[in-house]
Amino acid sequence: MRRIEDLHRWVLASHNIHKAQELRSMLSLRRIELLTLAQLNIVKIPAETGNTFRENALIKAQAAHSASNLPALADDSGLQVEVLDGLPGVHSARFAGPNATDEENILLLLKRLTNQVDRSASFVCVLCFWDGKHATYWEGKVEGQILETPRGHHGFGYDPVFEAKEIPGQSLAELDPSTKNKISHRAAAVQSMLASLDSV
Ligand code: IMP
Repeated sequence: MRRIEDLHRWVLASHNIHKAQELRSMLSLRRIELLTLAQLNIVKIPAETGNTFRENALIKAQAAHSASNLPALADDSGLQVEVLDGLPGVHSARFAGPNATDEENILLLLKRLTNQVDRSASFVCVLCFWDGKHATYWEGKVEGQILETPRGHHGFGYDPVFEAKEIPGQSLAELDPSTKNKISHRAAAVQSMLASLDSV
């Protein structure tokens, strides 16, 4: 059977340094070297035109593989808010506009949730590994709710307004990064990836 981990130099199909840091720290004990696009001088990856996390992860993984000729790992992730019918979802990075900052996205989200009692939400992460021929996917989710005001300075994206069910009373941005990296959607997807690597 094909052993994905034997191909141990991978390119991470993302320009998001926070994702790279989190994934690297989760993979630090494994024989996987995760190179960033910047390290390989790859500037452009295509626009995320898919309608699902899976489609977008595959688009990014295939583009990074074509540009680097290395096995590629892509992370497509986002926040799904129940009363907003799953929005911002695949549009999480661009919720408040094409070049929106994290702060602008959070402001728009809080505005859309004004006076909302049900603030249930989840973060979803889809990892896609593309070796040039096959795509393999792993998924992770963390359930929680959207806070009324941003809190904390760690992490990125919507972390300051997301409280995980597992750790009530603190936003993800108030957690020590090593704690977020144990309970996050990304951690769950990576755990499922590592479990499937161990089983082959
Ligand atoms: P992507 O680059 O299209 O996958 O966009 C992911 C977007 O979802 C990020 O820019 C954030 O807005 C949001 N997001 C994904 N993962 C996280 C996380 O761990 N914390 C906070 N926001 C996240």
